[in-house]
Amino acid sequence: MDRVLSARCSLFVILVFSSCAQRESFVSVDYTVMGTSARVIIPRGKRVLADSAYAQMLLVDSLMSIWKSGTELSRLNSAGAMRLSQPTLRCVEIALTAARETGGAFDPTVGPLVHAWGFDSDDPHTPDPESLELAKGLVSWQNVRIEGDSVILGPGQRLDLGGVAKGFALDLAAAKLLELGCESFLVEIGGDMLCYGQKGNQPWIIGIRDPANPSGIIGTMSIRGGKGAAICTSGDYERFVEIDGKRYSHIMDPRNGEPARGVVSVTLIGDRGAALADAMATGLFVMGPEEGIPLAGSLGIKAMFIYYDGDTLATARTWDFPEVTR
Ligand code: AMP
Ligand code: MG
Repeated sequence: MDRVLSARCSLFVILVFSSCAQRESFVSVDYTVMGTSARVIIPRGKRVLADSAYAQMLLVDSLMSIWKSGTELSRLNSAGAMRLSQPTLRCVEIALTAARETGGAFDPTVGPLVHAWGFDSDDPHTPDPESLELAKGLVSWQNVRIEGDSVILGPGQRLDLGGVAKGFALDLAAAKLLELGCESFLVEIGGDMLCYGQKGNQPWIIGIRDPANPSGIIGTMSIRGGKGAAICTSGDYERFVEIDGKRYSHIMDPRNGEPARGVVSVTLIGDRGAALADAMATGLFVMGPEEGIPLAGSLGIKAMFIYYDGDTLATARTWDFPEVTR
């Protein structure tokens, strides 16, 4: 779904740790989807179910990728209006919810901007002012209408669900595992995670990668999965583009039409599903800590920002973000 445009880092933003005792009862099954790695951590006795979760991830990619021609989303973008399958329709609804909640910092109609900057090609470039203005004029989530099972785009609009689809795939994978009788597991795509229950009799222990030293971590945190805890990160250190030697984030600020600046990463913990958490992480990345922390607090989202304060890296978090133990 999200193509790596420049440097690809094989390490996840968030790493999952396990003690020897826990490793005996849980198994981690590795996959590849949406151009990145995925995994299902599941009780050893239920190992056979992991492939069913993976099938859901593949389904989302086959419906919603804009990198593959012929997907439902690509066809919608060409046609401008189309009746959609339930998963794609649901994902669009969640994307519009995130757009509303972030005041448009997350905007699934960002496609023309991504295109104007060439972030959807092998040749990213600074757009000329005319095409930038044209693209900016097309970005407006309010112009997307849902009528029954159909989505109707405004003239020239293109949906890009790259900021929400990984989370949505995690939601479908988790729903499948629950349906098959598995109550404790963790599913992950490219560093975004959704966990349920506990890992044996322990909480899930999650490591947060150090943006200044990608091979290290800044610490770990304990997460109780309960009935679904999503941990999603938007960061510019895993995916970025370089134009004339200058580094740009792959996340656009729909308000000024430029790649978002200032924030290195946002890690968010939410209990309203992984799709919404994924979308909100992208939106909060655009908003930055000053705007984003009060919004996260008001929505009951736990969030931690790593951002540039001048030339130095700083962190800001909501009061309820779990303690990061070094
Ligand atoms: P994520 O890695 O989840 O933060 O998603 C980044 C992807 O979301 C990008 O590669 C684009 O496909 C898309 N995107 C970029 N900017 C935005 C935005 N402001 N709102 C919604 N989607 C975006
Ligand atoms: Mg996202």
